[in-house]
Amino acid sequence: MTSSTLPAPAVAARGVTYRYAEADGRTLLALDGVDLAVGAGEFVSVVGPSGCGKSTLLRLVAGLLPSQGGEVSVLGGAPGEAQRAHALGLVAQEPGLLPWRDVAANVRLPLDVMRAGDPERVRALLDQVGIAEFAGYRPAALSGGMRQRVALARALVHRPRLLLMDEPFGALDELSREAMRLELLRIWEQERIAVLFVTHSVVEAVLLSDRVVVMSGRPGRVRAVIDVPLPRPRGEAQGPSAAFVATAAAVRAALRSDGVGAA
Ligand code: ADP
Ligand code: MG
Repeated sequence: MTSSTLPAPAVAARGVTYRYAEADGRTLLALDGVDLAVGAGEFVSVVGPSGCGKSTLLRLVAGLLPSQGGEVSVLGGAPGEAQRAHALGLVAQEPGLLPWRDVAANVRLPLDVMRAGDPERVRALLDQVGIAEFAGYRPAALSGGMRQRVALARALVHRPRLLLMDEPFGALDELSREAMRLELLRIWEQERIAVLFVTHSVVEAVLLSDRVVVMSGRPGRVRAVIDVPLPRPRGEAQGPSAAFVATAAAVRAALRSDGVGAA
């Protein structure tokens, strides 16, 4: 295969620096020289303590924040281009559903924006995330876990090539969170798109990812990049395996080398 037939990496970031302007005129260095690589179809997690710049990094990749320093390439172009080409899907901690639209109409939203219709795709996704029977419900009538399922279906409906997830299960109770992790794994096996997943849960990062990027406390720097040598498909059985425990321990050690802990 020649290089021209290889798909562009989903994310290639080098030396990314980002500084916020504070109200008092000072600046806050959030990211300091961060490198990040997500290959086509790869699942990469970013773990780090609260405030280390994980969301900032994700927003830069999404094109929601302007690049200040370093290089960020998304699907072979500038971050904003990928966004405009509808090649990105985004799931945040809050589902952000439109309260006046029912479940099916919320999932359909990206297609409506693109003036595209694909009722079959909407139905299939509702089915995949286990909310087909609630298609006609408004978000207010759903549990937190179900709303986040709607948000996941909406993020995937237009067949993006890169899914960005920012602590998507952080607001859920432990049981819903475990169910959603397994569901996401199953869906990812089918869709085979690249995922950049931000979390502060070591267990979640190891269960889901091909690679875990461990960040330091503020300003965010990459402490370590740890490969996850677990076979796929993965499921609940992964929990107690020796490889799982060893990988989680390596991630925790990298986090601790900074003097910080994580869940
Ligand atoms: P994380 O997602 O890892 O918790 P964030 O990327 O949200 O971290 O934030 C990184 C740092 O930047 C934090 O110290 C946060 O307070 C600061 N920060 C985030 N957004 C803003 C903003 N809009 N203005 C000023 N500071 C911000
Ligand atoms: Mg955050």
